[in-house]
Amino acid sequence: MAFVITKPCVGVKDTACVAVCPCDVIHPTRDEPGFATADQLFINPDSCIDCALCVAECPVNAIFSGQDVPAQWGNYVEKNATYFRKENAAGVRDPINP
Ligand code: SF4
Repeated sequence: MAFVITKPCVGVKDTACVAVCPCDVIHPTRDEPGFATADQLFINPDSCIDCALCVAECPVNAIFSGQDVPAQWGNYVEKNATYFRKENAAGVRDPINP
């Protein structure tokens, strides 16, 4: 199961995780139009390879493996997926090569 960015990221958006992700599946990045308005960063569940490199980089411990997301933040699994569904529907990024 993909990794998930949860509540501690809200309002922080540090982006250290973006720098280490080998697959570029964490968005929005600082240079993307949606960065300013996004409340947090998100991981594309369809493209994450479960390498876990992002976890240690997060200064607020917001990233968890899907099966380890704390119960109170369980809705963030869907929140991450929904972000990319909307982006794909809007044609913001290629769903095959996000
Ligand atoms: Fe990227 Fe790996 Fe984190 Fe998935 S687990 S978001 S592939 S760094």
